[in-house]
Amino acid sequence: MTIYSSWQFYSYLLLLSIFLSACNYQDTQVDMVVHNAVIYTVDDAFTVAEAMAIDSGRIVAIGPEREIMNKYKGEQMVDAGSRPIYPGFIDSHTHFVEHGLYENQVDLTGTKSWEECVERIQEFASSSPSLWIEGHGWDQNDWEIQQFPAKDALDRLFPDRPVILDRIDKHASLANSKALELALIEGPKRVIGGEIMVDDEGEMTGMLIDKAAYLVKDVIPAPDEDLLKRAMSRAQEDCFEYGITTVAEAGLDTTSIRLIQKMHAEGELLIRIYAMLLADDAGREFMKRGKVLEDRLTVRSVKLYGDGALGSRGAALKHDYHDKEGHRGALLHQPIFFKQWAALCDLYGFQMNTHCIGDRANQIILSVYQDQLKGTNDKRWRIEHAQVVTGNDIAMFGRNNILPSVQPVHAMSDMPWVEERIGAERVDGAYANASLLGENGLVLLGTDFPIEGMDPLQTFYASVFRKNAQGEPEEGWHMEESLTREQALRGMTIWGAIGNFEEEQKGSLEVGKVADFIIMDRDIMQVEESEILDSQVLSTFVHGVKVK
Ligand SMILES: [Zn+2]
Repeated sequence: MTIYSSWQFYSYLLLLSIFLSACNYQDTQVDMVVHNAVIYTVDDAFTVAEAMAIDSGRIVAIGPEREIMNKYKGEQMVDAGSRPIYPGFIDSHTHFVEHGLYENQVDLTGTKSWEECVERIQEFASSSPSLWIEGHGWDQNDWEIQQFPAKDALDRLFPDRPVILDRIDKHASLANSKALELALIEGPKRVIGGEIMVDDEGEMTGMLIDKAAYLVKDVIPAPDEDLLKRAMSRAQEDCFEYGITTVAEAGLDTTSIRLIQKMHAEGELLIRIYAMLLADDAGREFMKRGKVLEDRLTVRSVKLYGDGALGSRGAALKHDYHDKEGHRGALLHQPIFFKQWAALCDLYGFQMNTHCIGDRANQIILSVYQDQLKGTNDKRWRIEHAQVVTGNDIAMFGRNNILPSVQPVHAMSDMPWVEERIGAERVDGAYANASLLGENGLVLLGTDFPIEGMDPLQTFYASVFRKNAQGEPEEGWHMEESLTREQALRGMTIWGAIGNFEEEQKGSLEVGKVADFIIMDRDIMQVEESEILDSQVLSTFVHGVKVK
C-alpha cells in the first residue's frame, strides 16, 4: 500500500478534479439546451427546475442551471430569460377539426338580437360561394327577447338556399324551409333524442333540437379533402398560439381520422391528437381493427352523446326544468344503446367517453359504466362535462375509477341563466370541479372549443377564481368548487395525459418524456389574479421543435 504525504495527497486530488471537470464540461452534445428558466416540471412532487437538455425530441436531463449547463452543449441554446416554462397544454375536450371549418360559416357569436344575426347572415351569404349557408354561435340568452328564433326571415331572404344555424352549444339549430325540404321534414314528427319545434298553431318554427338537427346535417355535403386539410392546419396554428400541444378530439368521423394520419405521415400536422371515434357504424368497424398508437395520433376511445345541453333545455334531468313545467329534456338514445357500446368498448379495450350534462344522463351513464366496470379498474372511462350530478351519483365516479372531463369556462358562460333554468337547489353541486376531483384525485380540464374560446388561461382562471373573463362575480361563483393553481395546472397537463393513457410520454417535463413545452411572459402560478388573463405564451415547442 502506498502512503502519500498529505501534501502529495491533496495535490493529487486537485489534479484529478481539474482533469475530471475538464473532460466533463459540456462534453455531451444534444439538440437543445433550455436554461435560465423557471421550469414547472409538474412531476409528482411539483418540482421546479432551471434548465433542461433535449435530444431527438425528448428530455434527457432536467435540473439546476449549473448541473445542466456544465454537462450539456446544445446545438441550440435557448435562454429563457428567467421566464416560466410549463408542459404544453393538453385540452381534454375539443372539436379541433370543426374549429378549423368554422371559418367557412357565418359567426353569430356575441350577437345581441336576432335582427343582428340576420344582418350578419345576409352579409356572409352575399360573398359565400357555397349553396348551403351554415352558421354557428347564436345564443338567445344574450338577446333582449330571450326566445328561440324562427325561420320566417330566412325563408324570405333565402327561398332557394338552405340555411342552418347552430346555437352556441350545438344542441339546437335553426333551419329554413329549404333546408327542411331537402331533409324531407314536411311537418312535425317524432324524433328519438330530439325535437322538431312548433308554434302555437302547430306550424314548424325551424328550430330543431339535438337529433332532429341531424336530419338536416346529414344532407349537407361533406367537406372535401382540401377544405379539411386547410381547416386542420388553421386549427393547429391557433392551438400553438395558445400553447396547446395536444388536443383530445371529442368525436371524429373516420374520414377525418384517416386524413389526420396522412397529414401526420407527410409532416403537415405537428400537433398531437387524441381522437375519439364517433359511435356510429364506421366507428365500430374502425374499433374492431384495433387501436392506433402513433407518435402524434392516438385512437383508442369512443365518444357518445348521452343528452343535449341546458341552454336549449335538451339536457336530460331527473325532474322538470325550473323554467318549463313538464319538460325534462331527453336522452339521445335508449339505455340499451349505451349498454351495447359499453360491452363493445370493453371487449376491444377502448375507452368509453360519454357526453352527460343533466343529472338523469349522468345517473344513467354512470350506472351503465358501473355495470360494465364493476368497481376498481384502470380503463379510465370518462364522463364528458358532468355538469349536473345529484344525489349520491357522484360516488359512482370514485367507486369505478370513472374520470370526469370538465370545462370550467362552460360554468362561467351558463352562470347568468342556469339558476332560472334548473333552480337553485340543483345549481348547488353542479359544475362541481373540486368535488369531482375528490373522487379519483384528478379532473381533466378542457374548453370544448369552438363552443367556447380555446384560450387555456381562461380555463385556468375560471378553475381557480370561478369568474368570467370580465372578472365577475367579484367574489367568485360557488368558490367551494374552485381548484388551486397547482390542481388547475395539473388538470391542463398531466391529468389530461392520464385521461389519454399518455402519462408515460407527456404531461410533465421529466427525463424520457417528449419535449412539449411553452415559455410564458409571466408566471401564472405566482402573478396577481388580475394579471392571469393578460399573460402571453411567448413560444411553443412540440417534440423539441419550436412551432410558435
Ligand atoms: Zn364537445
